[in-house]
Amino acid sequence: MSSLLLFLLVAVYAGLVMAFANSITAKIETETYGGMQRTEQVSRELGKQKERLDMEKADLQTEAKEIFMLYEITKEIAQSLNEQEAFEIFKKKLHTHVDFKECRFLEPRSGEAKDLRKKEDFFVFTLQSKKQRIGYLVIEGLSEKDKEKVMILGHQFALALRRVLLYQEIERIAITDSLTEVHTRRYITERFKEELSRSKARNIKLSFLMIDVDYFKRYNDQYGHLTGDQILRETGFLINENIREIDIAGRYGGEEFCVILPDTDQQGAQNAAERIRKAIENAVIKAYDAAVKVTVSIGTATYPDAGQKMEELIDKADWALYRAKKQGRNKVCSFGIYKDDRDAA
Ligand code: GH3
Ligand code: MG
Ligand code: MG
Repeated sequence: MSSLLLFLLVAVYAGLVMAFANSITAKIETETYGGMQRTEQVSRELGKQKERLDMEKADLQTEAKEIFMLYEITKEIAQSLNEQEAFEIFKKKLHTHVDFKECRFLEPRSGEAKDLRKKEDFFVFTLQSKKQRIGYLVIEGLSEKDKEKVMILGHQFALALRRVLLYQEIERIAITDSLTEVHTRRYITERFKEELSRSKARNIKLSFLMIDVDYFKRYNDQYGHLTGDQILRETGFLINENIREIDIAGRYGGEEFCVILPDTDQQGAQNAAERIRKAIENAVIKAYDAAVKVTVSIGTATYPDAGQKMEELIDKADWALYRAKKQGRNKVCSFGIYKDDRDAA
């Protein structure tokens, strides 16, 4: 009996141990499976995150490349101080990043841009500087996908162009007399020296005109200085209007103007001076309430006949001007045509 009981007890105990072992195994299995599932999930998520990061990296690389390209283009265009040169650099750079047939730069007043805008194969980008239009970029054969890129680059070109235009304006202001809009005396002096050495090198003549407004003091006294200023402004304008493209007009001082005439002999200088004298004599200058008429006297001197150096030529033109004043004003006198001109030497 007791051995049966013992057997039963052992059997129950063994059963209990087995059950416990089974439950632990099941638990371990469940936990291991769950762990594996979690590991798989984490690994999947890590994979997705990596993909996302790779994509972000690629985007950043493209963006960095584009920013670098913009920086490169802007840097290169910024080195140029001339509109056409800036455009050529821009066009060359654009070619390396975008496909197109032709790219042109049009002036802001060009009517062509409006017509081209209507054509199918043309893309017209307006170049703006603040609120002012400074030109157009016309691109032929550009694909739709590249338009945004061109717009970004076009904006950079507009900035560079604005810089070029500002530089040109500053340069113009620096060499232009603010009242009369002809060149400053300093600029005239520089150019005179340059033109003189060019004439010497090429063995050609060069003439210089000294122009002085007759009885100018009287106009100031009668009409006031503001009207006097307007007379000077108009005189400068009329001189500029009556010379060739290659001639250089300047304000020598006060009411005295001068003109450098490259490649011009004494007769040519006489003719040019007469044209200016007549134009001023015939003009009616409107200044505030007054309408006034003025005249000028002009002295001319020609290289090499009248002298070799700039200072000499200025002196001789002055001497001839003095003679024109003495002869009654509203006259042109050329140095060298009178015998006593030699006394000026
Ligand atoms: P002439 O026929 O001999 O040349 O007589 P003029 O009165 O023109 O000569 P003068 O040299 O006696 O007078 C020149 C005047 O020009 C004196 C000066 O006050 C005036 N003037 C010089 N610069 C300016 C300027 O910028 N504006 C004005 N309104 N007057 C000026
Ligand atoms: Mg004078
Ligand atoms: Mg005078």
